[in-house]
Amino acid sequence: MNRSRVVVVGAGFAGFQAARSLSRTLRGEAEVVLLNPTDYFLYLPLLPQVAAGILEPRRVTVSLPDTLPGVRLVLGEADRVDLEGRTVHYTDPEDVRGELRYDRLVLAVGSVNKLLPVPGVAEHAHGFRGLPEALYLRDHITRQIELAGPGPFTEEDVARRTFVVVGAGYTGTEVAAQGQLFTNALARKQSGQGVGGRPRWILLDIADRVLPELDRRLSRTADRVLRERGVQVCTNTSVREATHDGVQLDTGEFVPTRTLIWCVGVRPDPLVSGVGLPVERGRLLVERDLGVPGRPEVFACGDAAAVPDVTRPGEYTPMTAQHASRQGKLAGHNVAASLGHGEKRPYEHHDLGFLVDLGGVKAAANPLGIPLSGPLAGAVTRGYHLAAMPGNRVRVAADWLLDAALPRQSVQLGLVRSWSVPLDSASPELARVPGGSSKEH
Ligand SMILES: Cc1cc2nc3c(=O)[nH]c(=O)nc-3n(C[C@H](O)[C@H](O)[C@H](O)COP(=O)(O)OP(=O)(O)OC[C@H]3O[C@@H](n4cnc5c(N)ncnc54)[C@H](O)[C@@H]3O)c2cc1C
Repeated sequence: MNRSRVVVVGAGFAGFQAARSLSRTLRGEAEVVLLNPTDYFLYLPLLPQVAAGILEPRRVTVSLPDTLPGVRLVLGEADRVDLEGRTVHYTDPEDVRGELRYDRLVLAVGSVNKLLPVPGVAEHAHGFRGLPEALYLRDHITRQIELAGPGPFTEEDVARRTFVVVGAGYTGTEVAAQGQLFTNALARKQSGQGVGGRPRWILLDIADRVLPELDRRLSRTADRVLRERGVQVCTNTSVREATHDGVQLDTGEFVPTRTLIWCVGVRPDPLVSGVGLPVERGRLLVERDLGVPGRPEVFACGDAAAVPDVTRPGEYTPMTAQHASRQGKLAGHNVAASLGHGEKRPYEHHDLGFLVDLGGVKAAANPLGIPLSGPLAGAVTRGYHLAAMPGNRVRVAADWLLDAALPRQSVQLGLVRSWSVPLDSASPELARVPGGSSKEH
C-alpha cells in the first residue's frame, strides 16, 4: 500500500516544529518530506550577535538531518505550487528542477525584507533577514573602522565611522545596541584607549519611540541604554533618499555614511501570493486549525500565514518566533489528525512577553508580563534563547563565555560581498553567486 506523503515547505520556526511533530506522531505511517534551501534551521533572534562578532555563524544554525530523524530533507527552493496537481515545483542548489507530489502540504516559508519606496534604498541599504546579510555586515563594519584608521579623520573617514540603522523594532534596536559596542571595541584597537572618539551610530524610526510595537516599559529601558552608550536615537524621523555618500533624512539633515542597515520590518515570502489562494497583506488566510478554507489538504503557519488571533478578535497573530513555532507544532498535529491520527485543535496562544538583547550584560524584557532591565534581564534573555534553540546550545554558551573572557576577534574574511546580499531578495537565506539563480523580487 502506498504511504501518504506530507510535504512541509520551509524549515524555519514553523516548518521545523511541523516536521518534528509530524514525524513523532505518524511514526513512519506517512512519509514526511521537508523542502528547504539550506540543510539547517536558522535561529534568527541571535543573528544580531553574529553581525556583532559575538557568535560564529554556524552557532545559530541547527542541522536538520541531525535533529529531525525520520524526516526526508530535500534541498531546494519552491517556486510554484500546483494545487490541482498537488505538486510543489522547486529548484535545488545546483539549479536542477524537481517536483514533489503531496497528499498534505504545509506552507511555512516565512518572510523576507520589507521595502519602502524610498529612492536609493534598494541600491545602498542592506537588510537583516538571513545569515549572509549578518556575515556581510560583520565584515563590512570591521572594514569601515579599519579603513578609517586611527585618525586624524578626513570627511571620508568620518562617513566610514558613521552607521545608520533604519527601523527601531527589536531587530534594529538590537543591531544598533550590539553594533555600537562592537565598533567601540574595534576603534579602541585601532587608536588606543580613549583616542579617536567613538564611532557614530544613529537609530531612526518614523514612530515616536523605540520598540514601538512592544510594551512602553521595554521602550524606555532600550532608549535609556542606547542613549547612555552614545547611540543617537531619532524618533519621528525617516529617510528621504539614500546615496553612495550618505542618507538624506526628512528633517533636512544629510548624514554622510557608508552603512545603511534596513530593519523596517518584513513581508511574507512572495511565494505565498503566487499560490492563487486568498491572502491578507501577503499572508495566506487560514482557519483557526491552520487549514486553508476549501482546501482540506493545505495548511499554513508562521510569518507566511494569516492566523486569527483569539486574544485580539478581528486581528491576526503577529510575525514572531513565539507564534511561528507553536503554530508549526499545531500544524503538524492537525495534519496528522487529518490522516486519522488524533483530533484537530484550534490555535490559541497568549503572548508570553518579549526579550530584547542590548549587548554587554543588558537587555529589556517582560517575560510573562514582568518588566525586567539590566543584568537580570540579560541573564533571562540568554537563558531563554538557550532553552528555545533546538540544538547547538553548548557551542552558543561557549561563544558567550569566550566573548566575556577575551577581546572580540576583529578580522574580516570578505567572503560575502555587497552585491551578493541585495535588499530586494526573495531568498535572504542564500547569498547570490555569480551566474547563480537566486531570485530577486
Ligand atoms: C534578526 C531577527 C531577530 C528576530 N528576533 C525575534 C525574537 O527575539 N523573538 C521573536 O519572537 N521573533 C523574532 N524574530 C521574528 C522571527 O524570527 C520570525 O517571526 C520567525 O522566524 C518566523 O518563523 P517562520 O517559520 O514563519 O519563518 P522563518 O523562520 O523565516 O523560516 C522560513 C523558512 O522557509 C525557508 N524558505 C523560504 N522560502 C522558501 C521556498 N520558496 N522554498 C522552500 N523554503 C523556503 C527559509 O529558508 C526558512 O528556512 C526575529 C526576526 C529577525 C529577522
